[in-house]
Amino acid sequence: MNLKQILAKAKNTDNLVIGSGALDECGSLLNSYWDENKVIIVADTNTWKAAGEKLSVSLKSGGFEILPPVIFTVPPFLLADYENVRSITSEIDKHPDSVLVAVGSGTINDLVKRAAFETGKTYMCVGTAASMDGYCSSGAALSSEGRKQTMECPAPRVIIADTDILETAPPESSAAGYGDLASKLTAGADWIIADFTGDDPIDSSVWEIVQPRLEGWLSSPEKLAAAEPEALSRIFEGLNFSGLAMQVLGRSRAASGAEHLFSHIWEMSGHLGADGNPVSHGFQVSIGILCVTALMEEVFSKGAEEINIEKAVDIYPSWPKRAAEIEELMGALPSWEEYLAICRKKHLEKDQLLRKLQRIKGGWEVLSSRVWSRLPSYREMKNSLRTAGCPISPEDINLDRQTAIKTYAKAQCMRNRYTILDLAYEIGILNDCAMGIQSNSEYLYR
Ligand SMILES: [Zn+2]
Repeated sequence: MNLKQILAKAKNTDNLVIGSGALDECGSLLNSYWDENKVIIVADTNTWKAAGEKLSVSLKSGGFEILPPVIFTVPPFLLADYENVRSITSEIDKHPDSVLVAVGSGTINDLVKRAAFETGKTYMCVGTAASMDGYCSSGAALSSEGRKQTMECPAPRVIIADTDILETAPPESSAAGYGDLASKLTAGADWIIADFTGDDPIDSSVWEIVQPRLEGWLSSPEKLAAAEPEALSRIFEGLNFSGLAMQVLGRSRAASGAEHLFSHIWEMSGHLGADGNPVSHGFQVSIGILCVTALMEEVFSKGAEEINIEKAVDIYPSWPKRAAEIEELMGALPSWEEYLAICRKKHLEKDQLLRKLQRIKGGWEVLSSRVWSRLPSYREMKNSLRTAGCPISPEDINLDRQTAIKTYAKAQCMRNRYTILDLAYEIGILNDCAMGIQSNSEYLYR
């Protein structure tokens, strides 16, 4: 599928424009997709300087009426807080005949996404950093009353990235984008596993949007670290194709696997970087990728003969015992009862588990070779992430290694989406593998 075909299938997004000077196309795109002539730009003080101001001048000269922009002052760190959505909706309430243009990356886009939804509007997003794949994903990760949640809202109608602006973004934000895009490798391997076990068959048309293009997008981490426009453009394209794949599939399986669950656990635990600010999504995911790749190596270094079905069925807990384990693991997280419900759905009867494990054991070599046809080794993954400027050990994101290791068991409880965590859990080796990773000096160190 080419971009035009993907956009035709995507639920919300009608156009994606990436290139040098793309900012100048905003006016004609506004005319093509919206009737309104009044524009409200939403930015923070950094993205206003990087792109918002220039955009406002260019739109004004193109005949648009530029209403007072909503500009959030940074620092302090702009939080994806629902309160900030209200500052945007109150401006739209004053000017209901206006169109919203988000100028920024993750947080600005999420705030505008939700504000547009609440006011019954669609919006344009001008991306200022190739930092994450949330530009064209549905839903916004916002905290409300102290609790982070994904709030419903459609992706932007039009997304623009001007590589002249992406070049000026802080290098760590492009590195974070590399990490988020590299997560499609582990996510792809997880989907292969879920397809094999019959838990979540691969949708080949969605697979084709992202997976065959990944090597190309991720091929030059050193050029990305040098902020070369072509490399930035490739990462932005990859991140947005991933978002479009989620729109086409209608869920995030297309772009998110177990590595994202690690990131979600740390985020929900309120984990902060050494500077006291939240760690970027892409950086948390980078460590999640390494945790997952290490687990893939631990699991698939075993031969089929090492899978002890009898033992796995024997140690698989009854539901009451499992429920107690989940409370122990997840009890400190907000709304932990949700995970109890999720795990209840995943819980198998012993005879179901027996049949499933027989199938898995029977095709073990095939599964292993499919996974490794998708996934680079831990060492290769670590090298690429390091070259791109991503963190490569938990310490790099202010997380101690022990906490990272303890996350395996928690991440497995988080979502009803089959991943390597579930496979290892059902085979009865998840905890042993986590211990194996802990005692291996190759894994999760700088
Ligand atoms: Zn992500």
